[in-house]
Amino acid sequence: MQTKKFGELREAVKKRRGLNLSEPERSVDGNYFLTIMAGAVTVSIGPKGGFNIPAVRKYANGSDEYPSVFDAVVYADKCWERQETLQFDLAVGKGHDKPIVGADWKCRSAGCPCSSEKLVDRLYRSLDRTRDQVEVLVNNSP
Ligand SMILES: [Zn+2]
Repeated sequence: MQTKKFGELREAVKKRRGLNLSEPERSVDGNYFLTIMAGAVTVSIGPKGGFNIPAVRKYANGSDEYPSVFDAVVYADKCWERQETLQFDLAVGKGHDKPIVGADWKCRSAGCPCSSEKLVDRLYRSLDRTRDQVEVLVNNSP
């Protein structure tokens, strides 16, 4: 499922934007595929094929112009740029200070709380999911 979804996204990003995706890397908890769009921003693909932009707090907030989550993810770099222009508090536990998030769910910014958080907190920060949902993910890591 994730390989198929990655292929669909790669094709759409290439066709509509002329941009490339990096080969997907599996997240340390084993549940997600992570790919970097145009060397600029990480996109995650969940176990059931759902897309997400880990660094963007809630991309729906910045993407009313996009008709679907898939369309927003095709423009993940634009969603990040939009977030960058908004002052928001990383202490609320969602989103990252930098757009590229690694397989360990860290964004490599000393100014981001993720640098000292536990895995479950980094997953919560990176995904559009509740705390209960990310605890289940961590506890059921393959
Ligand atoms: Zn971070």
